Amino acid sequence: MTDGPHIGGCLCGAVTYEAQGKTRWIAHCHCNSCRRSTGAPITTYVCVESSSFRWSGEAPARFNSSPGVFRAFCPTCGTPLAYEAEQWPGETHLHISTLEDPDRYPPTAHVYTAERISWFECEDGLRRLPANGTV
Ligand SMILES: [Zn+2]
Ligand SMILES: [Zn+2]
Repeated sequence: MTDGPHIGGCLCGAVTYEAQGKTRWIAHCHCNSCRRSTGAPITTYVCVESSSFRWSGEAPARFNSSPGVFRAFCPTCGTPLAYEAEQWPGETHLHISTLEDPDRYPPTAHVYTAERISWFECEDGLRRLPANGTV
């Protein structure tokens, strides 16, 4: 778990954010929905408390990608920034590479490995969950 502050923003710099407190978890997601949303073979998230999270700069755009799921991104440059879902109340999942210092956030697990691209493998020794769960 990593202590705050957690500061980040998009590629063009228009949308920025900050959160406080300890991270809840940090994990790689292999699900198809995240892959489409980011265009990348995996998406890595840092979970912070929604109550400590706030946007700064311009307001992000939000896309309702599946029932109860909202993905926030910069309306100018398109950088994916955050994920929130009714299934995960109180959590804001930040896209790790939008944080100012990603080195501070080592992931501890892979989730949705049942959906991973077949050629994607890395020998990092972390836990692998076929869907979601406690990471
Ligand atoms: Zn931007
Ligand atoms: Zn996912």
